[in-house]
Amino acid sequence: MAGPEPGRDCPFCPRLVGYRHEQRKAHPDWFNAPVPSFGTADARLLIVGLAPGVSGANRTGRPFTGDYAGDLLYQTLIDFGFARGFYRADPHDGLTLQGTMITNAVRCVPPQNKPLPAEIRTCNTFLRARMDALAGIRAVVALGRIAHDGVLGALGARKSAFPFSHGGEHDVGPFRLFDSYHCSRYNTNTGVLTPEMFRKVFARVREHLGS
Ligand code: SF4
Repeated sequence: MAGPEPGRDCPFCPRLVGYRHEQRKAHPDWFNAPVPSFGTADARLLIVGLAPGVSGANRTGRPFTGDYAGDLLYQTLIDFGFARGFYRADPHDGLTLQGTMITNAVRCVPPQNKPLPAEIRTCNTFLRARMDALAGIRAVVALGRIAHDGVLGALGARKSAFPFSHGGEHDVGPFRLFDSYHCSRYNTNTGVLTPEMFRKVFARVREHLGS
């Protein structure tokens, strides 16, 4: 059985392994490996994103760190007490998560930010193990449909019973699943997701978890 964190040279997705090797050659000073989950083992909140961005988390080695999505996500987490410190787009910025963990449905950077269905299914083994290892989870935020489906897959829940919608909430298994559009630059630039829409999701999570 897989542990919750893949090794640096996880071999299971050949296309992503090839891309990882290309990035290691082109950018030997970048992280260029499956990006580990970030947060605390006593997390009550798990946030699930899609996959590392090539020059964001794939470069820095910390989820959502180094690209626009991190600016919005980490500031929102600080504002709602799920993180402390200052986010400086650098894994050494001293930012700490409070009772929260962040992971991705796919741990390796995919070309054009688009993992294939088989890669999502394969990496779901690690998402399932990650969720199993966090006994205290009471809330999960899925950033986008792929993360939402990944969480349901990890739980063995039927997707048709829990359709994705921004702001949607589902009681599934032992916790509540909160859905949000992904906080990508594309979604915010096109107005699909505004910072206020994003904040409302985390306000609901805070209400659900209490202080
Ligand atoms: S995406 Fe996941 S399963 Fe696939 S190679 Fe990377 S860590 Fe392994």
